[in-house]
This record gives sequence, structure tokens and C-alpha cells, in this order.
Amino acid sequence: MTDHTHTAASFDRDSTPWDLEDDCLHEECGIFGVVGMKSASASVALGLHALQHRGQEAVGITSFDGEEFFSHRGIGHVAHVFNNQDLFAHLPGKMASGHVRYATTGGSGLRNIQPLFADLAGGGFSIAHNGNISNAMTLKRDLVQKGSIFQSTSDTEVIIHLVATSRYPTLLDRFIDALRLVEGAYSLICMTPEGMIACRDPLGIRPLVIGRLGDGIIFASETVALDVIGAEFVREVEPGEMIQVSHDGKMVSHRPFGKPAARPCIFEHVYFSRPDSVMGGQSVYEVRKAIGKELAKESLAEADLVIPVPDSGVPAAIGYAQESGIPFELGIIRSHYVGRTFIQPGDGARHADVKRKHNANRALVEGKRIVLIDDSIVRGTTSLKIVQMMRDAGASEVHMRIASPPTEHSCFYGVDTPERNKLLAARMDLQAMTDFIQADSLAFVSIDGLYRAVGEQQRNNGCPQFCDACFSGEYPTRLTDLIEAGKGDDVKIPA
Ligand code: SF4
Repeated sequence: MTDHTHTAASFDRDSTPWDLEDDCLHEECGIFGVVGMKSASASVALGLHALQHRGQEAVGITSFDGEEFFSHRGIGHVAHVFNNQDLFAHLPGKMASGHVRYATTGGSGLRNIQPLFADLAGGGFSIAHNGNISNAMTLKRDLVQKGSIFQSTSDTEVIIHLVATSRYPTLLDRFIDALRLVEGAYSLICMTPEGMIACRDPLGIRPLVIGRLGDGIIFASETVALDVIGAEFVREVEPGEMIQVSHDGKMVSHRPFGKPAARPCIFEHVYFSRPDSVMGGQSVYEVRKAIGKELAKESLAEADLVIPVPDSGVPAAIGYAQESGIPFELGIIRSHYVGRTFIQPGDGARHADVKRKHNANRALVEGKRIVLIDDSIVRGTTSLKIVQMMRDAGASEVHMRIASPPTEHSCFYGVDTPERNKLLAARMDLQAMTDFIQADSLAFVSIDGLYRAVGEQQRNNGCPQFCDACFSGEYPTRLTDLIEAGKGDDVKIPA
């Protein structure tokens, strides 16, 4: 394989100005792949650009021209790493796939940037993964004992070694054999000399959709990435489904894991996905508005204004305002022109740096009772800063309403969550949280309210329709690595 690794690592997290996204959950990856299209790699770059919100640390694209695989990977945003049209001449072919990532299992570093690639018996094999394998350490230990030599510290590489060591005759059977040993969450886009294979884990925890453009077939984490290249949405890859696409665009669907009840991540609706995506047949934007309406029905505040925490709190705040009749206003203004600064802020300048990105609309909030709407509370430090910002701007009362239930548990399925003891809701009850963020009142949408917003009557407590483990603590898969590390005492997992 020809690999043009981009070594000018210019993305420096520490130099990024403080902003309201510091204290939130991060989706860890987005994936995108096309088969049967001219300039496939350029389309992949466009698709990844639309998925940039799912991972900003590194990006990679691998292409196949019918004979050879090519790759370009680098640290930074898509527009930074793929900043030159000439690059796509080095990524030829009508099949390509790519990946954006946030630092995830295995940490950051060039060797962990996906798609990962290996030359296996039978040809090249590239893999792009969204999710997290919850028994990766256990599998890796066994593989290393049997002689496997790992090139990265990514959990995804385990799949490559399992495929490489499987004894089944065809690559497809070896791939299925490998996935039977894997637990956790995975949406995958793989490339072989025969074509592309896309699949979702049996519970469909992480999303993956299919699109079509002319003769080309596209796979993407979200529908918004289909929109940007002008592709038509065909359907979602079903939980547990594996789809093989040949170079002439012929698709074959396999169901190697049967049809277990799906448990897609409910947090995709709350926060991770772009509001202009459609997920589970529903507009993410409309679901977020519906969450805001549920929140208003459950926890109405006496107030003059509804103010969203930008940008992710906006749709829920619109819903809250519509349901409550309290006017929606923009009380926090976000600058869209803040780049990384060459000024290294000292303590005083750092405060100014905060205001460069988000600033209170003082003329609006002064003397008003406000309801602030945010999507979630993680450590609570962001909520505290926003409440302070509103009080400094003269708000007479600040009520905080959160468009998700309290995040009390960590995610082990591909979302960057702090350890449980750092989550505010795991450490404190409602009153203590209210005191911590210094709000006049605080309320979260109930878990049934959240389920109503996504179109269910209520949560089915016997067998929930979604993964909601970060709220409920009920994990839908085994968590072998956690248990083996002796840290699984307070998790509920299937027997
Ligand atoms: Fe999504 Fe939470 Fe489940 Fe993770 S634990 S997959 S964030 S619902």
C-alpha cells in the first residue's frame, strides 16, 4: 500500500481557546465509504467534512484503484489534512473509505489513525471503525500470546488480527468469524480487493446508513454526509447486518448474527448527531425540539426568556419555548470567527478568550428571569460558567433545564466520557448539583420523557428500546475488559 502520512501535526488541543464544548461528551468517530464512483476519495473527503463534528483530532482516507491500496492520513481537521486538490491524485480509484476520529481507545498518534490497513492472505484489508470494542484488551492479550504483533494501540486492530488468524476459507467468513468474538459497539466500513463490506454490531449501537449516487453506493455514519455529496438516502444498515458491495455496485445482505432486539444509542438523538440528519426514521432536529417540549411539560420554570446554550441546546430550547409560551431569545452569542490564537493567554487574557467565543447578550438578559437550556451536564464546570455569565450580565434569576436525564454512568461504546467519579450526576443529588452550578433551579428531562420524544410511549424497562446506559447504568453488552480490570462492580450487564 502507498501511504502518504501527513506528519505536520499542527492541531494542538492545549492552544484551543476555552469554550463551552470543553465539558461535554465527544462522539469518537465518523466513517464514510463509496464504491463505484469516479474521484471516490474526493467524495469521501466531502463526506468526512460533514461528519467533522464526530471527531476533530485526526482523519484518514484509503482508496483502491483495482490493483493497489493508497492512503493519506494526518492529524487535524479534514480541511487541514486534505487541503490540496492534488492529494486526491495520490488516492486514485473508484472505491475509497475514510474516518474522522477523536482520541479514543488507544490514545492519539499517527499509528492509530484509521482506516487501518493490513496485507492478509487473500489481499489487502482496510477497516474504518466507529464504536468501541469492550473486550479488546482481553482479545489482544490472547492474540499476542499466540504471536500476533500489533502496529497500533487502537482497539480496532484486534479485528484485523482476528480476521488474519481465522481458519475459514473466504475473507467474508473469516470476517464473520472474527466479529463473533468481538463484544461492544461497531459500525465498520472495510475494503478488500473484491469490494466493500459494511456492517453494524448486532445491537446497532452506533449508526450507519446507505446512500446511492448514480451507480455508486455510499455508507456513512449520518445522512447529512449523504446530503453534502448529493446522494440519495436508501436506508439504514440494520443492526447485525453485513452488506457486501462489489465493484459493479451489486449489494448482498448477510445476517450472520440473526436479528436480536436493537439497542441504538439514544444519545445520538440528544446530542451527537447533526440536527440536519435523520436517524431511526426521525429528524434529529424535530426529536430535539420534542425533548424540549417534554422538558417544559415536566419542569416548567416561571421565567421571562428561554435561552439556549449554543449550539447544541438550540432545538430543545425552541421546543421548550413553544410548549411553555415563554419567548425564545439568543442570550448567549457565539462568535463563528474564532480560530486558534497566536496569543498565549495569561490569566487575564484567558478570561477575554472565553468571551471571544461565547458572550452574554447583556442588553437582553439584564433584569430578566431566564431559563437556560442545555443538552447535558457532564462534569458541571460548563454549566457553572454559563450560569455565572448570565448573572454577570444582570439576569435576576437563572433556571437550568437539561434535555437529557442525568448522565450518571460512563459510556464504553465509543463516546468519550470521563470516569464515573468525575460525572456530576454520579457524585451529587439534584439539590447538590443545583448548588454546585449556582442556579436558582435545575431539572432534567425524565428517561420516559426522552423516550416519548423519540417516538416511544415509554421506556420498556424489561428490554429497553435503546442503549441508555449512561443514564440508567444498564449496559446492553458484556463489558469484559472492565470486569477483568475489577472495575465492574456498579454496572448492570446481561448475564
Ligand atoms: Fe450512547 Fe450512552 Fe449507550 Fe454510550 S452509554 S452508547 S452514549 S446511550
